[in-house]
Amino acid sequence: MKVKDKFKDKTVFSFEVFPPKKTSSIDVIYQTLGELGGLRPDFISVTFGAGGSGNSRFALDIASKIKESGIIPVLHLPCINFTKAEIDATLAEAEKRGIDHILALRGDINPDIPPVKDFLHASDLISYLRSKGDFDIAGACYPECHPDAETLEEDIENLRIKVDAGADHLITQLFFDNDSFYDFRDKAAAAGINVPIEAGIMPVVNKNMIERMVTTCGASLPRKFVKIMQRYEHNPEALRDAGIAYAINQIVDLAASGVDGIHLYTMNNAYVARKISDAVSGIIEA
Ligand code: FAD
Repeated sequence: MKVKDKFKDKTVFSFEVFPPKKTSSIDVIYQTLGELGGLRPDFISVTFGAGGSGNSRFALDIASKIKESGIIPVLHLPCINFTKAEIDATLAEAEKRGIDHILALRGDINPDIPPVKDFLHASDLISYLRSKGDFDIAGACYPECHPDAETLEEDIENLRIKVDAGADHLITQLFFDNDSFYDFRDKAAAAGINVPIEAGIMPVVNKNMIERMVTTCGASLPRKFVKIMQRYEHNPEALRDAGIAYAINQIVDLAASGVDGIHLYTMNNAYVARKISDAVSGIIEA
């Protein structure tokens, strides 16, 4: 069964993992995958460096490992720094391994790497994938607007191009304010976007993550979120538990509001994923 068909019957629940750093052993992520797989998500997606990170060679191996465990792997595929020939080579390798679910992405523009201009936008890659074979294709979307777009309306217009090109479903950038997601969902529907939209949820469970959220993520931080983070930032265990509780609260509210799916940015932390999964599985399936 493809992921796009799962949305017809249920609220999809999925995880995202990333390949280990070049210097780390791949065995660590394999152990994490074993634990995540035990939670029986609908799919596990694997991030892929947009270029220059050197660890993307692991992404296909990780996706293969996920497939071996009987779970659908979704391979992220950024295109901006790759030639058509390089994309073809990755796709050929993916097909050889039976990986037919792709999250098609542009990738961030790196000021130090002049973009290869074979694919300018995710929508170009999606049209290309559609012409190549029977892929299940996901795309990214941004409830609080992609930073390159002037307005959310413009971004949603571009999102419609992505969906028209053949995206089967969408996964959002992380957000902490569910109202921003509901507003985006309404505007996307009004623009004629009618594919399922999974909500991307990032449990913020340590101080490094708080700092990253505040400085780079661009998501608005609701007062409730900031208060919790400030109160517990010097108490690692309490912060972890508060971050998990915040994510659970977000998910319960989203499930009650009829969300199509929840995509958990696990940050390769199986403990956090299990706590959240245990707390919400009955609610999501209700
Ligand atoms: P696009 O859809 O191309 O959009 C980028 C900008 O161009 C937007 O401002 C949009 O409004 C505009 N635009 C889009 N289409 C058109 C068009 N046809 N004409 C004119 N303008 C257009 N990055 C990685 O490198 N590796 C990963 O594994 C990865 N995983 C991600 C997973 C998720 C769920 C998300 C939300 C993001 C992920 N990213 C990843 C980050 C992503 O690559 C960046 O956010 C990137 O800047 C935009 O990618 P995109 O696919 O949304 O691009």
